[in-house]
Amino acid sequence: MFSRLVRLDRVLDFFTVWNMATGIAVSTLLLTATPASSQPVPGSLDVHWNEGASDCNIYLLIGSDKALLIDTGAVADPKPMPLAKTILELLPEKNHQKLPLLVVHTHRHLDHRAGDPQFASFSSTQVVPFNLDGVRAFFGFINWPNGIGHVDLGGRTVDVIPTPGHNETHVAFYDDRTGILFSGDFLMPARLLIDDAAAYHESALRVIDFLKTRPLTHILGGHIELNAAGRAYRFGSHYHPNEHRLELVRADLTALPAAFEHFNGFYARYPKYILTNPIHNLLAMAFIGVTALIFIVWGVRRLLRRRCG
Ligand SMILES: [Zn+2]
Ligand SMILES: [Zn+2]
Repeated sequence: MFSRLVRLDRVLDFFTVWNMATGIAVSTLLLTATPASSQPVPGSLDVHWNEGASDCNIYLLIGSDKALLIDTGAVADPKPMPLAKTILELLPEKNHQKLPLLVVHTHRHLDHRAGDPQFASFSSTQVVPFNLDGVRAFFGFINWPNGIGHVDLGGRTVDVIPTPGHNETHVAFYDDRTGILFSGDFLMPARLLIDDAAAYHESALRVIDFLKTRPLTHILGGHIELNAAGRAYRFGSHYHPNEHRLELVRADLTALPAAFEHFNGFYARYPKYILTNPIHNLLAMAFIGVTALIFIVWGVRRLLRRRCG
C-alpha cells in the first residue's frame, strides 16, 4: 500500500491512495474550511493525479462542525482500500473529538458506494441511504427533481442539486467555500452514460440556472476517461497515461443542453465528454446482429434451393 499526501495551500489538500495489488487508484480532494466570505476562498488544482483512476473520485469537505464525504468508491474491502480508516485520520478534532462525518453519494451506482460498509462501525458517522426515497427524505426534497437541499457543515454550506439522467438518484453538490461543483457522473471528462436523456437535459438546465448567480471555480466529476486529446480510454482500463484534466469549467456545463438537443440517441463525441446511451447502442447492435443473421439464413436457403434444384 502506497499513499501520498501533497499539501497545496490552506484550502486544498490533494490526497491520493494507490493500491499496488489491484491497481486501483482513488483520488481524494480534501477541502478544509476557512473564514466565511461571500467569495470562494482561493485555491489551486495545479496537481498531477495518479494515472489510474478508473474508479470514482472521492471528495472530503471539512467544516467547523462537520465533515462531508462525497462517494465511497468502488472498493469494499478495507484491506486493499482502507477508506474509512484513512478518512478518519484526516478528520480534525473539535473539543478533543473527531468531527462527525456525513457520507453522501452522487448516485447509487456501486462504484460510488461500495466503501459504505467500512463506515458502519463508526458511531459519529452517518451514511445517507443511496435509494431515491432515502435521498429525497434526507435532503428534504418534496418535489423531486425540483428544489435544492442544504448541508450545513459549520462555516460552509453545501447545496444539493437533483441531477437525474445518468441515474434517477443522481445529485450534484455545490460547495460555497470553494465555489466547486462536485458533479459525479453527471458531468466529467468521460463517457456521460445516459439513462434518461430528457431528465439529463432538464438537469443540465437546472444546474445552469442554480449557478447563474453563484461563483463557479471548478466542476469536479466522478471519473476521468479521456486523454488530453479527448480520446476515450478502453472501458474499465486502470492505466490512464496523459489524462485529461479533471476539472471542467462553466462553458462545458452551459454547452450541455445544446449537446442533448442535437443528440442522435446513440453516441456523440465532444472535446470534453462523450454522450452515449448504452441501452440504445446495445439494442442497435442486437438489431444489426439479428438482421445480419436473417440475411445469412436467407442466403444459405437460397443457395441450397438452387443447388438442390
Ligand atoms: Zn454512475
Ligand atoms: Zn461512476
